[in-house]
Amino acid sequence: MPELPEVEIVARLVGAAVAGARVESTLAPGVNALKTFDPPLHALDGAVLTGVSRRGKHLVVESDAGLVLLIHLMSAGRLQLFDRRAGLRDRTSRVLVRLDDGRELRLREFGTKQAAWAKLLRAGELEDDEALATLGPEAWPDPPPLLPLLGSQARPLHSLLRDQRTIAGIGRSWVDEILWEARLSPYKRGTDLTAEEAEALRAAIVGLLGEAIDVYEETLRLPLPDRLPLPLKVHRHEGQPCPRCGTTLEAVHFEDYVIAYCPACQTEGRVLKDRRLSRLLK
Ligand SMILES: [Zn+2]
Repeated sequence: MPELPEVEIVARLVGAAVAGARVESTLAPGVNALKTFDPPLHALDGAVLTGVSRRGKHLVVESDAGLVLLIHLMSAGRLQLFDRRAGLRDRTSRVLVRLDDGRELRLREFGTKQAAWAKLLRAGELEDDEALATLGPEAWPDPPPLLPLLGSQARPLHSLLRDQRTIAGIGRSWVDEILWEARLSPYKRGTDLTAEEAEALRAAIVGLLGEAIDVYEETLRLPLPDRLPLPLKVHRHEGQPCPRCGTTLEAVHFEDYVIAYCPACQTEGRVLKDRRLSRLLK
């Protein structure tokens, strides 16, 4: 589940490695992954890549040809750089950018769902693309004050913070860490936030996402592993002691994600109703 810190480190490491390399050819083995046809993908052939940047959870592969490849990894996509070309049997291949030095920049996707996508856009059209035009302010490094952003919305913080139109970059993993760090209930509503809580939340977002990027900077090198080692303390740690107070971390299960939290630190000791669990117990 790549979120802002994971996408940022991919942009930095892969971007530095491909800058200056010339594209020899391109290929889109994932028939549904490439969402645009004009300009065609092969318009990138012969261009020199100039780097990779990040917008929210999107990657932007930049070139000197006035063209950019906008990529969303969704939940199971990876952008990886390989010294050799993919074999034809690699079923994870979605979009291949072959460089004339033999290396290959590869958008891959694991699992059965085909959700990751790429769009080849003219550089001038990038910011107007609907995927970016609807993004809220970046969660890191310097998001705006959160009270004006969240204070008028009655939805729970867990859903608000993952809404890319509200604030860009946070997903299911880091939202648990952020709410735990700020000692806020996942179900607290935006409209119920005090100025102090909004400030704590902002500090938690900036601090945790920045720390995660620092950890990746220190530990990760190319080639990037298929699974990045996320430095999480709360998410996926239900059943274990809270790193701050020792209380057992609890979880609420949904069909495709899990909220983990500390009852003592975040919900005044209350264990939130977990429908899956109560159904199992019946
Ligand atoms: Zn705790």
